[in-house]
Amino acid sequence: MADYDYDLGVIGGGAAGLTVTAGAARLGAKTILIEKEEVLGGDCLHFGCVPSKTLIKSARVYHQMKRAELFGLPRIDVGPVDFAKVADRIRSVIARIQVHDSEERFCKLGARVEFGRPRFLDDHEVRLNGRKLTARNWVIATGSSPAAPPFPGLDTTPYLTNRKIFSLDRLPRSMIVLGGGPIAMEMAQSFCRFGTEVSVIQRSGQILSREDRDMADLVMQTMAAEGVRFHLGTAVESIRELGREKQVAFRDISGRVVTAAAEEILVAMGRSPNVDDLDLEKAGVEYSHKGIVVDSRLRTSRRHIFAAGDITGAYQFTHAAGYEGGIVISNAVFRLPRKTDYTYLPWCTYTSPELASIGMNEKNAAKAGIHCSVWKEEFSNNDRSLAEGEESGFIKLLLNEKEKPIGVQILGPHAGDLLAEWVAVMNGGVKLSTLAGAIHPYPTLGEINKQVAGTFLSGKIFSDTVKKGLKLFFNLKGRACGSDEPAP
Ligand SMILES: Cc1cc2nc3c(=O)[nH]c(=O)nc-3n(C[C@H](O)[C@H](O)[C@H](O)COP(=O)(O)OP(=O)(O)OC[C@H]3O[C@@H](n4cnc5c(N)ncnc54)[C@H](O)[C@@H]3O)c2cc1C
Repeated sequence: MADYDYDLGVIGGGAAGLTVTAGAARLGAKTILIEKEEVLGGDCLHFGCVPSKTLIKSARVYHQMKRAELFGLPRIDVGPVDFAKVADRIRSVIARIQVHDSEERFCKLGARVEFGRPRFLDDHEVRLNGRKLTARNWVIATGSSPAAPPFPGLDTTPYLTNRKIFSLDRLPRSMIVLGGGPIAMEMAQSFCRFGTEVSVIQRSGQILSREDRDMADLVMQTMAAEGVRFHLGTAVESIRELGREKQVAFRDISGRVVTAAAEEILVAMGRSPNVDDLDLEKAGVEYSHKGIVVDSRLRTSRRHIFAAGDITGAYQFTHAAGYEGGIVISNAVFRLPRKTDYTYLPWCTYTSPELASIGMNEKNAAKAGIHCSVWKEEFSNNDRSLAEGEESGFIKLLLNEKEKPIGVQILGPHAGDLLAEWVAVMNGGVKLSTLAGAIHPYPTLGEINKQVAGTFLSGKIFSDTVKKGLKLFFNLKGRACGSDEPAP
Protein backbone atom coordinates (compact mmCIF):
# COMPACT_ATOMS: atom_id res chain seq x y z
CA MET A 1 0.00 0.00 0.00
CA ALA A 2 1.28 3.46 -0.89
CA ASP A 3 2.73 5.46 1.99
CA TYR A 4 1.08 8.87 2.18
CA ASP A 5 2.17 11.82 4.34
CA TYR A 6 -1.30 12.09 5.86
CA ASP A 7 -4.33 9.87 6.35
CA LEU A 8 -6.56 12.82 5.58
CA GLY A 9 -6.03 16.17 3.90
CA VAL A 10 -8.75 18.80 4.30
CA ILE A 11 -8.89 21.88 2.08
CA GLY A 12 -10.89 24.77 3.56
CA GLY A 13 -11.11 25.81 7.20
CA GLY A 14 -14.81 26.70 7.42
CA ALA A 15 -17.71 24.88 9.07
CA ALA A 16 -17.36 21.71 6.98
CA GLY A 17 -13.55 21.52 6.96
CA LEU A 18 -13.23 22.25 10.67
CA THR A 19 -15.79 19.58 11.58
CA VAL A 20 -13.98 16.96 9.53
CA THR A 21 -10.55 18.01 10.82
CA ALA A 22 -11.54 18.01 14.49
CA GLY A 23 -13.34 14.65 14.22
CA ALA A 24 -10.64 12.93 12.19
CA ALA A 25 -7.77 14.18 14.37
CA ARG A 26 -9.54 13.16 17.57
CA LEU A 27 -10.06 9.71 16.11
CA GLY A 28 -6.32 9.36 15.51
CA ALA A 29 -6.17 10.04 11.78
CA LYS A 30 -3.06 12.00 10.81
CA THR A 31 -4.76 15.08 9.41
CA ILE A 32 -3.67 18.26 7.67
CA LEU A 33 -5.99 21.22 7.24
CA ILE A 34 -5.15 23.79 4.57
CA GLU A 35 -6.75 27.23 4.58
CA LYS A 36 -6.13 30.03 2.08
CA GLU A 37 -6.95 32.94 4.42
CA GLU A 38 -4.80 33.94 7.39
CA VAL A 39 -7.34 32.66 9.92
CA LEU A 40 -9.68 29.71 10.28
CA GLY A 41 -13.45 29.98 10.57
CA GLY A 42 -14.63 30.44 7.00
CA ASP A 43 -17.52 32.51 5.72
CA CYS A 44 -19.88 31.76 8.59
CA LEU A 45 -17.59 33.31 11.18
CA HIS A 46 -16.08 36.16 9.19
CA PHE A 47 -18.59 37.20 6.52
CA GLY A 48 -21.78 35.22 7.15
CA CYS A 49 -23.82 33.93 10.08
CA VAL A 50 -21.91 35.57 12.91
CA PRO A 51 -21.56 39.12 11.56
CA SER A 52 -25.07 39.06 10.10
CA LYS A 53 -26.71 37.93 13.32
CA THR A 54 -24.68 40.43 15.34
CA LEU A 55 -25.73 43.21 12.96
CA ILE A 56 -29.37 42.08 13.10
CA LYS A 57 -29.28 42.33 16.89
CA SER A 58 -27.98 45.92 16.78
CA ALA A 59 -30.70 46.80 14.27
CA ARG A 60 -33.38 45.18 16.44
CA VAL A 61 -32.28 47.07 19.55
CA TYR A 62 -32.28 50.36 17.62
CA HIS A 63 -35.72 49.56 16.23
CA GLN A 64 -37.02 48.79 19.74
CA MET A 65 -35.54 52.02 21.08
CA LYS A 66 -37.54 53.94 18.49
CA ARG A 67 -40.68 52.06 19.55
CA ALA A 68 -40.26 52.58 23.31
CA GLU A 69 -43.64 54.28 23.60
CA LEU A 70 -45.39 51.11 22.44
CA PHE A 71 -44.14 49.49 25.66
CA GLY A 72 -45.46 52.25 27.90
CA LEU A 73 -42.01 53.82 28.14
CA PRO A 74 -40.93 57.41 27.58
CA ARG A 75 -40.38 58.36 23.96
CA ILE A 76 -36.67 58.34 23.06
CA ASP A 77 -35.26 60.63 20.39
CA VAL A 78 -32.53 58.31 19.21
CA GLY A 79 -29.48 59.72 17.48
CA PRO A 80 -28.27 58.46 14.10
CA VAL A 81 -26.42 55.17 13.88
CA ASP A 82 -22.63 55.33 13.80
CA PHE A 83 -22.05 52.23 11.72
CA ALA A 84 -18.35 52.14 12.58
CA LYS A 85 -19.39 51.28 16.15
CA VAL A 86 -21.75 48.55 14.94
CA ALA A 87 -18.86 47.19 12.86
CA ASP A 88 -16.63 47.32 15.97
CA ARG A 89 -19.12 45.22 17.87
CA ILE A 90 -19.27 42.75 14.98
CA ARG A 91 -15.46 42.49 15.03
CA SER A 92 -15.43 41.89 18.78
CA VAL A 93 -18.02 39.08 18.57
CA ILE A 94 -16.07 37.44 15.75
CA ALA A 95 -12.86 37.71 17.81
CA ARG A 96 -14.48 35.93 20.76
CA ILE A 97 -15.72 33.07 18.61
CA GLN A 98 -12.46 32.89 16.66
CA VAL A 99 -10.81 31.38 19.75
CA HIS A 100 -12.77 28.17 19.14
CA ASP A 101 -11.42 28.06 15.61
CA SER A 102 -7.79 28.82 16.40
CA GLU A 103 -4.82 27.02 14.90
CA GLU A 104 -3.64 26.17 18.44
CA ARG A 105 -6.90 24.42 19.26
CA PHE A 106 -6.64 22.22 16.19
CA CYS A 107 -3.01 21.52 16.90
CA LYS A 108 -4.00 20.39 20.42
CA LEU A 109 -6.55 18.07 18.85
CA GLY A 110 -3.70 16.58 16.80
CA ALA A 111 -4.22 18.21 13.39
CA ARG A 112 -1.60 20.18 11.48
CA VAL A 113 -2.83 23.49 10.08
CA GLU A 114 -1.16 25.13 7.08
CA PHE A 115 -2.09 28.37 5.36
CA GLY A 116 -1.83 28.68 1.61
CA ARG A 117 -3.46 27.74 -1.67
CA PRO A 118 -3.01 24.08 -2.53
CA ARG A 119 -3.18 22.81 -6.11
CA PHE A 120 -3.78 19.18 -6.95
CA LEU A 121 -0.97 17.50 -8.84
CA ASP A 122 -2.88 14.22 -9.01
CA ASP A 123 -5.62 12.57 -6.98
CA HIS A 124 -3.43 12.10 -3.89
CA GLU A 125 -0.85 14.85 -4.12
CA VAL A 126 -1.04 18.64 -3.81
CA ARG A 127 1.53 21.39 -4.09
CA LEU A 128 1.39 23.84 -1.21
CA ASN A 129 3.72 26.78 -0.69
CA GLY A 130 6.33 25.22 -2.97
CA ARG A 131 6.22 21.80 -1.27
CA LYS A 132 4.46 18.59 -2.25
CA LEU A 133 2.36 16.62 0.17
CA THR A 134 0.21 13.55 -0.12
CA ALA A 135 -2.84 12.18 1.65
CA ARG A 136 -4.71 8.92 1.36
CA ASN A 137 -8.05 10.73 1.41
CA TRP A 138 -8.84 14.34 0.63
CA VAL A 139 -11.82 16.45 1.62
CA ILE A 140 -12.62 19.55 -0.39
CA ALA A 141 -14.51 22.04 1.75
CA THR A 142 -13.70 25.33 0.09
CA GLY A 143 -17.19 26.84 0.42
CA SER A 144 -18.80 29.41 -1.84
CA SER A 145 -18.54 33.09 -2.78
CA PRO A 146 -21.17 35.65 -3.70
CA ALA A 147 -22.23 35.07 -7.30
CA ALA A 148 -21.73 37.99 -9.68
CA PRO A 149 -24.72 38.06 -12.04
CA PRO A 150 -23.83 38.96 -15.65
CA PHE A 151 -25.65 42.32 -15.61
CA PRO A 152 -24.19 44.81 -18.09
CA GLY A 153 -22.15 47.36 -16.17
CA LEU A 154 -21.87 45.42 -12.90
CA ASP A 155 -18.22 44.58 -13.56
CA THR A 156 -17.31 48.28 -13.79
CA THR A 157 -19.49 49.46 -10.87
CA PRO A 158 -18.28 49.11 -7.30
CA TYR A 159 -20.77 47.13 -5.24
CA LEU A 160 -21.11 45.48 -1.85
CA THR A 161 -21.36 41.80 -1.02
CA ASN A 162 -21.31 39.93 2.26
CA ARG A 163 -17.49 40.28 2.18
CA LYS A 164 -17.61 44.06 2.68
CA ILE A 165 -20.95 44.98 4.17
CA PHE A 166 -20.10 44.18 7.78
CA SER A 167 -17.01 46.37 7.88
CA LEU A 168 -18.37 49.60 6.36
CA ASP A 169 -17.06 52.63 8.21
CA ARG A 170 -20.29 54.58 7.88
CA LEU A 171 -23.96 53.95 7.24
CA PRO A 172 -24.97 54.35 3.60
CA ARG A 173 -27.75 56.90 3.01
CA SER A 174 -29.42 54.59 0.53
CA MET A 175 -28.96 51.06 -0.71
CA ILE A 176 -30.35 48.92 -3.51
CA VAL A 177 -30.44 45.25 -2.61
CA LEU A 178 -30.31 42.94 -5.61
CA GLY A 179 -31.92 39.65 -4.64
CA GLY A 180 -34.74 38.46 -2.43
CA GLY A 181 -33.22 35.50 -0.59
CA PRO A 182 -32.45 35.17 3.12
CA ILE A 183 -29.19 37.17 3.08
CA ALA A 184 -30.79 39.95 1.01
CA MET A 185 -33.82 40.17 3.30
CA GLU A 186 -31.85 40.09 6.55
CA MET A 187 -29.61 42.91 5.32
CA ALA A 188 -32.44 44.94 3.75
CA GLN A 189 -34.43 44.97 6.98
CA SER A 190 -31.45 45.68 9.22
CA PHE A 191 -30.11 48.58 7.16
CA CYS A 192 -33.60 50.03 6.83
CA ARG A 193 -33.93 49.87 10.61
CA PHE A 194 -30.58 51.66 10.96
CA GLY A 195 -31.94 54.47 8.80
CA THR A 196 -30.72 53.61 5.28
CA GLU A 197 -33.29 54.04 2.48
CA VAL A 198 -33.52 50.50 1.13
CA SER A 199 -35.00 49.25 -2.16
CA VAL A 200 -35.11 45.57 -3.03
CA ILE A 201 -35.02 44.49 -6.65
CA GLN A 202 -36.03 40.88 -6.99
CA ARG A 203 -36.35 38.71 -10.08
CA SER A 204 -39.19 36.45 -8.97
CA GLY A 205 -42.63 37.57 -7.89
CA GLN A 206 -42.00 36.59 -4.28
CA ILE A 207 -39.27 37.21 -1.76
CA LEU A 208 -37.78 34.13 -0.04
CA SER A 209 -39.00 32.14 -3.01
CA ARG A 210 -38.21 28.77 -1.44
CA GLU A 211 -40.85 29.45 1.24
CA ASP A 212 -44.65 29.30 1.06
CA ARG A 213 -46.04 32.49 -0.36
CA ASP A 214 -48.36 33.34 2.56
CA MET A 215 -45.43 33.34 4.98
CA ALA A 216 -42.97 35.14 2.69
CA ASP A 217 -45.58 37.79 1.90
CA LEU A 218 -46.08 38.50 5.59
CA VAL A 219 -42.33 39.04 6.01
CA MET A 220 -42.44 41.39 3.03
CA GLN A 221 -45.44 43.31 4.40
CA THR A 222 -43.68 43.78 7.73
CA MET A 223 -40.54 45.03 6.01
CA ALA A 224 -42.56 47.30 3.68
CA ALA A 225 -44.35 48.77 6.70
CA GLU A 226 -40.93 49.55 8.20
CA GLY A 227 -39.95 51.37 5.00
CA VAL A 228 -38.27 48.89 2.63
CA ARG A 229 -39.37 49.41 -1.00
CA PHE A 230 -39.91 46.26 -3.05
CA HIS A 231 -39.76 45.76 -6.81
CA LEU A 232 -40.72 42.16 -7.61
CA GLY A 233 -40.94 40.32 -10.93
CA THR A 234 -38.16 42.47 -12.38
CA ALA A 235 -35.33 41.95 -14.87
CA VAL A 236 -32.18 44.01 -14.37
CA GLU A 237 -31.11 45.65 -17.65
CA SER A 238 -27.98 47.52 -16.67
CA ILE A 239 -26.00 49.00 -13.80
CA ARG A 240 -23.76 52.06 -13.83
CA GLU A 241 -21.94 54.45 -11.58
CA LEU A 242 -23.28 58.00 -11.59
CA GLY A 243 -20.87 60.11 -9.57
CA ARG A 244 -21.74 59.55 -5.92
CA GLU A 245 -24.58 57.17 -6.70
CA LYS A 246 -25.07 53.94 -8.56
CA GLN A 247 -27.99 53.38 -10.86
CA VAL A 248 -29.86 50.19 -11.68
CA ALA A 249 -32.11 50.11 -14.74
CA PHE A 250 -34.63 47.30 -14.66
CA ARG A 251 -37.76 46.15 -16.41
CA ASP A 252 -40.58 46.20 -13.89
CA ILE A 253 -43.45 43.74 -13.67
CA SER A 254 -45.41 45.65 -16.34
CA GLY A 255 -42.44 45.54 -18.75
CA ARG A 256 -41.55 49.23 -18.37
CA VAL A 257 -37.88 50.10 -17.95
CA VAL A 258 -37.41 52.13 -14.77
CA THR A 259 -34.35 53.24 -12.86
CA ALA A 260 -33.42 53.36 -9.21
CA ALA A 261 -30.33 55.02 -7.74
CA ALA A 262 -28.61 54.61 -4.40
CA GLU A 263 -25.31 55.25 -2.69
CA GLU A 264 -24.60 51.53 -2.44
CA ILE A 265 -25.67 48.36 -4.19
CA LEU A 266 -25.67 45.09 -2.29
CA VAL A 267 -25.51 42.07 -4.57
CA ALA A 268 -27.01 39.01 -2.87
CA MET A 269 -28.10 36.84 -5.78
CA GLY A 270 -26.88 33.41 -4.87
CA ARG A 271 -23.52 31.77 -4.42
CA SER A 272 -20.80 30.33 -6.66
CA PRO A 273 -18.69 27.34 -5.58
CA ASN A 274 -15.02 28.03 -4.80
CA VAL A 275 -13.59 25.58 -7.32
CA ASP A 276 -11.01 27.84 -8.96
CA ASP A 277 -7.26 27.49 -8.44
CA LEU A 278 -7.48 23.95 -7.09
CA ASP A 279 -6.64 22.16 -10.37
CA LEU A 280 -9.48 19.74 -9.75
CA GLU A 281 -9.04 18.39 -13.29
CA LYS A 282 -5.64 17.00 -12.30
CA ALA A 283 -7.29 15.13 -9.43
CA GLY A 284 -10.07 13.91 -11.72
CA VAL A 285 -12.76 15.59 -9.61
CA GLU A 286 -15.87 16.56 -11.58
CA TYR A 287 -17.71 19.80 -10.95
CA SER A 288 -20.24 22.08 -12.57
CA HIS A 289 -21.21 25.74 -12.07
CA LYS A 290 -23.31 24.52 -9.12
CA GLY A 291 -20.42 22.86 -7.33
CA ILE A 292 -18.50 19.62 -6.93
CA VAL A 293 -20.53 16.60 -7.92
CA VAL A 294 -20.95 14.14 -5.03
CA ASP A 295 -22.90 10.97 -4.37
CA SER A 296 -25.05 10.39 -1.29
CA ARG A 297 -21.90 9.46 0.68
CA LEU A 298 -20.31 12.76 -0.36
CA ARG A 299 -17.73 11.00 -2.52
CA THR A 300 -16.64 12.88 -5.61
CA SER A 301 -15.93 11.28 -8.98
CA ARG A 302 -12.72 10.07 -7.27
CA ARG A 303 -14.09 7.92 -4.47
CA HIS A 304 -11.29 8.67 -2.01
CA ILE A 305 -11.84 12.41 -2.42
CA PHE A 306 -14.84 13.82 -0.59
CA ALA A 307 -16.57 17.19 -0.71
CA ALA A 308 -18.69 18.79 2.01
CA GLY A 309 -20.40 22.10 2.75
CA ASP A 310 -21.32 24.90 0.35
CA ILE A 311 -18.94 23.57 -2.29
CA THR A 312 -21.43 20.82 -3.21
CA GLY A 313 -24.09 23.45 -3.93
CA ALA A 314 -26.73 21.48 -2.01
CA TYR A 315 -27.93 23.06 1.24
CA GLN A 316 -25.81 26.12 1.94
CA PHE A 317 -26.08 26.40 5.72
CA THR A 318 -23.52 26.07 8.47
CA HIS A 319 -25.46 23.27 10.15
CA ALA A 320 -25.66 21.42 6.80
CA ALA A 321 -21.88 21.82 6.43
CA GLY A 322 -21.38 20.44 9.97
CA TYR A 323 -23.73 17.53 9.30
CA GLU A 324 -21.94 16.72 6.06
CA GLY A 325 -18.61 16.87 7.89
CA GLY A 326 -19.90 14.08 10.13
CA ILE A 327 -20.95 12.01 7.11
CA VAL A 328 -17.46 12.38 5.65
CA ILE A 329 -15.86 11.20 8.91
CA SER A 330 -18.04 8.08 8.89
CA ASN A 331 -17.14 7.27 5.31
CA ALA A 332 -13.49 8.35 5.21
CA VAL A 333 -12.25 7.56 8.73
CA PHE A 334 -14.55 4.85 10.14
CA ARG A 335 -15.08 3.43 6.62
CA LEU A 336 -18.70 2.94 7.59
CA PRO A 337 -20.94 3.71 4.62
CA ARG A 338 -23.26 6.54 5.66
CA LYS A 339 -25.51 8.51 3.35
CA THR A 340 -26.83 12.03 3.62
CA ASP A 341 -30.51 12.46 4.40
CA TYR A 342 -31.87 15.98 4.24
CA THR A 343 -35.52 15.11 4.96
CA TYR A 344 -35.50 16.99 8.24
CA LEU A 345 -32.90 19.64 7.51
CA PRO A 346 -34.17 22.79 9.25
CA TRP A 347 -33.35 26.40 8.38
CA CYS A 348 -34.27 29.86 9.46
CA THR A 349 -34.27 33.33 7.96
CA TYR A 350 -33.55 35.83 10.73
CA THR A 351 -35.80 38.67 9.66
CA SER A 352 -38.39 40.06 12.07
CA PRO A 353 -40.51 38.04 12.22
CA GLU A 354 -38.20 35.07 11.73
CA LEU A 355 -39.20 32.37 9.29
CA ALA A 356 -38.11 28.84 10.18
CA SER A 357 -38.84 25.59 8.41
CA ILE A 358 -38.34 21.86 8.70
CA GLY A 359 -39.48 19.16 6.31
CA MET A 360 -42.05 19.88 3.62
CA ASN A 361 -43.88 23.13 3.12
CA GLU A 362 -47.09 23.42 1.10
CA LYS A 363 -45.13 24.35 -2.02
CA ASN A 364 -42.87 21.28 -1.87
CA ALA A 365 -45.70 18.95 -0.90
CA ALA A 366 -47.75 20.10 -3.91
CA LYS A 367 -44.71 19.67 -6.19
CA ALA A 368 -44.18 16.14 -4.85
CA GLY A 369 -47.87 15.32 -5.28
CA ILE A 370 -48.30 14.72 -1.54
CA HIS A 371 -51.75 15.39 -0.15
CA CYS A 372 -51.56 16.98 3.24
CA SER A 373 -53.73 18.75 5.77
CA VAL A 374 -52.49 22.07 7.13
CA TRP A 375 -53.00 23.15 10.74
CA LYS A 376 -52.31 26.69 11.85
CA GLU A 377 -52.05 28.62 15.06
CA GLU A 378 -51.59 32.38 15.22
CA PHE A 379 -49.06 34.07 17.49
CA SER A 380 -51.82 36.56 18.32
CA ASN A 381 -53.39 33.70 20.35
CA ASN A 382 -50.20 33.12 22.32
CA ASP A 383 -50.20 35.03 25.61
CA ARG A 384 -46.44 35.51 25.69
CA SER A 385 -46.46 37.01 22.18
CA LEU A 386 -48.92 39.63 23.36
CA ALA A 387 -46.79 40.41 26.41
CA GLU A 388 -43.73 40.72 24.18
CA GLY A 389 -45.56 42.94 21.68
CA GLU A 390 -44.64 40.48 18.92
CA GLU A 391 -47.85 38.96 17.73
CA SER A 392 -47.33 38.87 14.00
CA GLY A 393 -47.06 35.44 12.41
CA PHE A 394 -48.26 31.89 12.73
CA ILE A 395 -47.19 28.26 12.79
CA LYS A 396 -48.12 25.78 10.11
CA LEU A 397 -48.12 22.03 10.68
CA LEU A 398 -48.42 19.76 7.66
CA LEU A 399 -49.76 16.24 8.16
CA ASN A 400 -49.80 13.54 5.51
CA GLU A 401 -52.74 11.27 4.82
CA LYS A 402 -51.70 9.05 7.73
CA GLU A 403 -51.77 12.15 9.94
CA LYS A 404 -48.01 12.08 10.47
CA PRO A 405 -46.15 15.41 10.51
CA ILE A 406 -44.23 15.97 7.28
CA GLY A 407 -43.30 19.59 7.83
CA VAL A 408 -43.54 22.62 10.09
CA GLN A 409 -43.02 26.28 9.31
CA ILE A 410 -42.94 28.96 11.95
CA LEU A 411 -43.20 32.64 11.14
CA GLY A 412 -42.87 34.67 14.30
CA PRO A 413 -40.65 35.80 17.15
CA HIS A 414 -37.72 33.44 17.85
CA ALA A 415 -39.03 31.04 15.20
CA GLY A 416 -35.59 29.46 14.75
CA ASP A 417 -35.42 28.53 18.43
CA LEU A 418 -39.04 27.40 18.52
CA LEU A 419 -38.34 25.02 15.66
CA ALA A 420 -35.94 23.03 17.89
CA GLU A 421 -38.85 21.16 19.46
CA TRP A 422 -39.99 20.06 16.01
CA VAL A 423 -36.45 18.96 15.17
CA ALA A 424 -36.74 16.51 18.07
CA VAL A 425 -40.36 15.55 17.29
CA MET A 426 -39.69 14.81 13.63
CA ASN A 427 -36.31 13.13 13.99
CA GLY A 428 -37.47 11.15 17.00
CA GLY A 429 -40.82 10.15 15.49
CA VAL A 430 -42.56 11.63 18.55
CA LYS A 431 -46.35 11.37 18.44
CA LEU A 432 -48.35 14.59 18.26
CA SER A 433 -50.36 13.37 21.26
CA THR A 434 -47.09 13.22 23.25
CA LEU A 435 -46.24 16.77 22.25
CA ALA A 436 -49.74 18.04 22.98
CA GLY A 437 -49.80 16.21 26.32
CA ALA A 438 -46.36 17.36 27.46
CA ILE A 439 -46.38 20.17 30.03
CA HIS A 440 -44.91 23.35 28.57
CA PRO A 441 -44.06 26.30 30.81
CA TYR A 442 -46.54 29.17 30.73
CA PRO A 443 -46.34 31.78 29.33
CA THR A 444 -43.85 30.89 26.62
CA LEU A 445 -43.72 31.29 22.89
CA GLY A 446 -43.01 27.56 22.77
CA GLU A 447 -46.58 26.85 23.78
CA ILE A 448 -47.51 27.52 20.18
CA ASN A 449 -45.98 24.13 19.30
CA LYS A 450 -48.22 22.38 21.78
CA GLN A 451 -51.18 24.52 20.71
CA VAL A 452 -50.97 23.57 17.04
CA ALA A 453 -50.70 19.87 17.89
CA GLY A 454 -53.66 20.36 20.25
CA THR A 455 -55.69 22.11 17.53
CA PHE A 456 -55.34 19.04 15.35
CA LEU A 457 -56.07 16.59 18.17
CA SER A 458 -58.95 18.52 19.70
CA GLY A 459 -61.08 17.77 16.64
CA LYS A 460 -60.71 14.09 17.54
CA ILE A 461 -61.03 14.38 21.34
CA PHE A 462 -64.03 16.70 21.33
CA SER A 463 -65.83 14.98 18.46
CA ASP A 464 -69.57 14.21 18.47
CA THR A 465 -68.77 10.48 18.58
CA VAL A 466 -66.75 10.86 21.78
CA LYS A 467 -69.48 13.05 23.29
CA LYS A 468 -72.18 10.53 22.38
CA GLY A 469 -70.13 7.67 23.87
CA LEU A 470 -69.59 9.53 27.15
CA LYS A 471 -73.26 10.40 27.34
CA LEU A 472 -74.19 6.78 26.76
CA PHE A 473 -71.75 5.30 29.29
CA PHE A 474 -71.77 7.93 32.02
CA ASN A 475 -75.12 9.57 31.49
CA LEU A 476 -73.59 13.06 31.07
CA LYS A 477 -76.28 15.73 30.98
CA GLY A 478 -74.80 17.98 28.26
CA ARG A 479 -74.56 21.79 28.04
CA ALA A 480 -75.18 23.95 31.07
CA CYS A 481 -75.26 27.17 29.08
CA GLY A 482 -76.13 28.34 25.56
CA SER A 483 -77.02 26.28 22.53
CA ASP A 484 -75.10 23.63 20.63
CA GLU A 485 -74.03 26.28 18.13
CA PRO A 486 -70.22 26.64 18.01
CA ALA A 487 -68.93 29.38 20.29
CA PRO A 488 -68.28 32.69 18.47
C1 LIG B 1 -24.36 36.86 4.96
C2 LIG B 1 -24.50 35.39 5.23
C3 LIG B 1 -25.27 34.98 6.29
C4 LIG B 1 -25.40 33.62 6.57
N1 LIG B 1 -26.17 33.24 7.62
C5 LIG B 1 -26.31 31.93 7.89
C6 LIG B 1 -27.06 31.53 9.02
O1 LIG B 1 -27.62 32.35 9.74
N2 LIG B 1 -27.16 30.21 9.27
C7 LIG B 1 -26.56 29.26 8.47
O2 LIG B 1 -26.69 28.08 8.75
N3 LIG B 1 -25.83 29.63 7.41
C8 LIG B 1 -25.69 30.93 7.10
N4 LIG B 1 -24.92 31.30 6.03
C9 LIG B 1 -24.29 30.26 5.20
C10 LIG B 1 -23.00 29.75 5.84
O3 LIG B 1 -22.12 30.81 6.06
C11 LIG B 1 -22.36 28.72 4.93
O4 LIG B 1 -23.31 27.75 4.58
C12 LIG B 1 -21.18 28.04 5.62
O5 LIG B 1 -20.19 28.98 5.90
C13 LIG B 1 -20.62 26.94 4.71
O6 LIG B 1 -19.50 26.37 5.31
P1 LIG B 1 -18.33 25.75 4.40
O7 LIG B 1 -17.37 25.12 5.33
O8 LIG B 1 -18.90 24.96 3.32
O9 LIG B 1 -17.69 27.02 3.68
P2 LIG B 1 -16.92 28.25 4.32
O10 LIG B 1 -17.38 28.54 5.68
O11 LIG B 1 -17.01 29.35 3.32
O12 LIG B 1 -15.42 27.77 4.42
C14 LIG B 1 -14.66 27.54 3.28
C15 LIG B 1 -13.22 27.83 3.63
O13 LIG B 1 -12.41 27.40 2.56
C16 LIG B 1 -11.42 28.37 2.32
N5 LIG B 1 -10.97 28.24 0.93
C17 LIG B 1 -11.61 28.59 -0.20
N6 LIG B 1 -10.88 28.27 -1.29
C18 LIG B 1 -9.74 27.71 -0.81
C19 LIG B 1 -8.59 27.18 -1.43
N7 LIG B 1 -8.46 27.17 -2.77
N8 LIG B 1 -7.61 26.69 -0.65
C20 LIG B 1 -7.73 26.70 0.71
N9 LIG B 1 -8.80 27.19 1.34
C21 LIG B 1 -9.79 27.68 0.59
C22 LIG B 1 -12.13 29.68 2.59
O14 LIG B 1 -11.21 30.73 2.85
C23 LIG B 1 -12.95 29.31 3.81
O15 LIG B 1 -12.26 29.53 5.00
C24 LIG B 1 -24.76 32.65 5.74
C25 LIG B 1 -23.97 33.08 4.66
C26 LIG B 1 -23.85 34.41 4.40
C27 LIG B 1 -23.00 34.84 3.24
